[in-house]
Amino acid sequence: QARAASKKTYIIGTDQTFEPFEIQDKKGTYNGKKPGIDIEILREIAKHEGFKYELKIMSFNADVQALQSGQIDGVIAGMSVTEERKKTIDFSDSYYNDGVVLAVAKDSKIKGLKDLKGKTVNVKTGTTGSLFAESIRKKYGFKLKYYSSSNTSWADVKAGNADAAIDDGPALRYGIANGTGLKIVGKQMSNTPLAFGVKKGHNKELLAMFNHGLRWLKKTGRLQKIVNKYTGKKA
Ligand code: GLN
Repeated sequence: QARAASKKTYIIGTDQTFEPFEIQDKKGTYNGKKPGIDIEILREIAKHEGFKYELKIMSFNADVQALQSGQIDGVIAGMSVTEERKKTIDFSDSYYNDGVVLAVAKDSKIKGLKDLKGKTVNVKTGTTGSLFAESIRKKYGFKLKYYSSSNTSWADVKAGNADAAIDDGPALRYGIANGTGLKIVGKQMSNTPLAFGVKKGHNKELLAMFNHGLRWLKKTGRLQKIVNKYTGKKA
């Protein structure tokens, strides 16, 4: 163990359903058999390292803001490590490779960014997908529509209320395999690994325990097993 078991109950922020990382059950909790990769990672690490935590389910944007203002102790929410976030967040080692992709309705004629002129692209507020979309919006001439949850953003594309979505590849791929009715066009457009985070300079013991537990999860093949349960693929 990294250190003696902590008596503190850490408040950990996480996203609303963001498959395969967070999957809320019918009651809106993460207590089911398939709560998602993040939830299982945190559960196993906490057990192994001997710390207690409480999950706080919020929109991703609210998670990041609550962490930065010190209202919560940590965030695990399919959160990408970026240079900008490193100014306010200390990240753990990464547990998954991620990046953003463009997705459209299955029957859409859009084949890539070049076909987005005058179109509407859905993004989730505060995510790397939204930041990436904002950075190329002028060049490709599309409009942006903001959502607080990925599921509603994608559903709106399927329903024809928007033309495309830019979001995390692993999440979109999982969703597509499970019937969102979308397809990914083009290649992954960024590379931003996922990690657990604490407010910069705070909760050092929590971060150390997380990293210690994560190394154990990696070494023993448990991380791979969790990932396989959801994706059937390598992490
Ligand atoms: N990986 C993306 C980010 O960190 C999206 C996270 C999410 O939507 N939960 O911005």
